[in-house]
Amino acid sequence: MTDTVQKILAGDVRAAARLIRDIDDGEPRAIELLKRLFPHTGRAYVMGITGSPGVGKSTLTDRLVRHLRTRNMTVGVLAVDPTSPFTGGAILGDRVRMQGHSTDDGVFIRSMATRGQFGGLTRSTRGAVMVLDAMGKDVVIVETVGVGQDEVDIARMAETTVIVLSPGLGDDIQAIKAGILEVGDIFAINKADNEGADKTAQEIRSMLEMEQSAGLGRKDWAPPVLKTSARNNEGIEELWAAAERHRSFLAAGNSAYYRELGRMKARLELVDLVKQRAADEVMAKLHGRGGLERLVDELLERRTDPYTISERILDEVFERKERLDQERD
Ligand code: GDP
Repeated sequence: MTDTVQKILAGDVRAAARLIRDIDDGEPRAIELLKRLFPHTGRAYVMGITGSPGVGKSTLTDRLVRHLRTRNMTVGVLAVDPTSPFTGGAILGDRVRMQGHSTDDGVFIRSMATRGQFGGLTRSTRGAVMVLDAMGKDVVIVETVGVGQDEVDIARMAETTVIVLSPGLGDDIQAIKAGILEVGDIFAINKADNEGADKTAQEIRSMLEMEQSAGLGRKDWAPPVLKTSARNNEGIEELWAAAERHRSFLAAGNSAYYRELGRMKARLELVDLVKQRAADEVMAKLHGRGGLERLVDELLERRTDPYTISERILDEVFERKERLDQERD
């Protein structure tokens, strides 16, 4: 175990890739390793890039990676795609993405995919970010597809979240309403080489202004709305400059809003972990006591209501004898 930790701290790609896979698979060994890596994390700048499929996130990420490499920064990229059919999709994705960076050991790219573990994506992405951070990457980019709750949670994990949109909002209006506006520290209107980028930028600006005047949103940070063309490699420097401005703003620590946001994220992380571990423990114990299926039968046959069954499960596994005794009296 110490050996693996040392390897990852030294930037060993194979050890890191294996650990990320184990995290994704929910292996208990991964937790032990993450505990040991934790003291070596907290140095990387974590950036989230999110938006609907097809807006140009991966092209933009690729351009940004190239830009960072010209500045001698090492980069880790986690491409989170809950919609991709796991393993095959993710691995294929990595291959495609790695093109052009495969000979560059300053860049490490991985895809994350859920493996049937309900709600596991946020947690495993968080773990994977820690691994890249511990490897010594200067910048970790978390690219997420889509705009569901999972993706919003993942986007929140980053210090700076870039929302990518493309001209002509259309369907994206829904996404914006669904809360994506709230999580954006920077907005990039990509495909600015297409018509309508100015109009879209203007629409976003007025939405942000409306939010601010309603007392919502970032309050002490006005999210910049930039135009980029990943295809033509335009606006990338400006995007990075905006990210650095946001990073410095955070580092100054004067924002009550971001301080509270930071607490909220930490709180969510803990609650999420406790929930998952409690659920795992309950399921494991239940397994030892004849499993869930007999209780499922009981419910299907309508012999008992689901509330009573779930209470009984908790009573049994936590051995809440007192209560059981009381109930018997
Ligand atoms: P993602 O699904 O958000 O990751 O989007 P991709 O990066 O895969 O890009 C989707 C499509 O849009 C691809 O065909 C890209 O070549 C194209 N694309 C990406 N950026 C731009 C851009 O700035 N301008 C134009 N015109 N097309 C772009």
